[in-house]
Amino acid sequence: MKAIAVAGGKGGTGKTFVAVNLARLLSSRDKTLLVDADVENPSTLFALPAEVKEVKQVESFKPLIDEAKCSKCGLCVKNCPEHALVMLVDKRILYFEDLCSGCEVCKLVCPSSAVNRGLRVEGLFKYGSYGESLDVVVGELKPGIRRSGFMITRLIEEHRGLFEKYSYVVVDSPPGSGVGLLSVVKEADVVVAVSEPTPLGLNDLKKFLTLLERVEKRLKVILVVNKHGLPGGLERDLEEEASKRGLPVIAIPYSELVVKSYVERRPIVDLHPESQVSKGLVEVARLVSS
Ligand code: SF4
Ligand code: SF4
Repeated sequence: MKAIAVAGGKGGTGKTFVAVNLARLLSSRDKTLLVDADVENPSTLFALPAEVKEVKQVESFKPLIDEAKCSKCGLCVKNCPEHALVMLVDKRILYFEDLCSGCEVCKLVCPSSAVNRGLRVEGLFKYGSYGESLDVVVGELKPGIRRSGFMITRLIEEHRGLFEKYSYVVVDSPPGSGVGLLSVVKEADVVVAVSEPTPLGLNDLKKFLTLLERVEKRLKVILVVNKHGLPGGLERDLEEEASKRGLPVIAIPYSELVVKSYVERRPIVDLHPESQVSKGLVEVARLVSS
């Protein structure tokens, strides 16, 4: 199994577009799984008409304190690693759901069995497929929940066994440079860094490449300059960044065909296989699998 993280600092660079098309190309060689780990804004199912076959609710532990049993010893508060529990002067315990990681330490340390198991819904996992050899798993955080790191970790850990059944696992990574992105990149053998020739694209690419230096594992990194040829674009600066680090660069030209493929909800490599955009994507697939 080869794991490929398609990532980039900012949102809107075309990360999902590259991930979907790359997965589609690789699936024509061998069994491929596309994982949407952009849990706050998963959009692979808008770019690929995959048939969703199963939806599973993702739940996590939430402490429910039984006041009748609680001796107010404070051990749960003292041992909570996230400081999600606070004891007031009148000995009432306050619970801050946004801080809670669901680790269950409070339940384990309670000497009075006063911490009961409550559940909270974090989001959904959706399972689908497109054609014979491309399967899709989408992680989708419930609106209003701010625990994308938890959801991404759960998405990876719960499906690690499944990954092994595929020759290629393509992960559409979350934007930014946070813990969620780092946990995706740590799983990868190859990172496809998608950027665009704008000042923001350049700035975020630099941040992302610096983040990659924190990953101890040796990674193969490929830079994709999407929307190449934008008037006044910073292609040369992006290429210099890549050259400093010895990274291969693949240009994907700016094209209205990309918008068309989104509107038609079909991978451009299927719709317009002879286009320059598809040729760039084929080159990405070649480098990824070589
Ligand atoms: S589950 Fe963990 S993080 Fe949440 S309140 Fe209990 S000890 Fe704290
Ligand atoms: S550890 Fe148990 S008994 Fe002690 S304060 Fe917490 S809930 Fe109450």
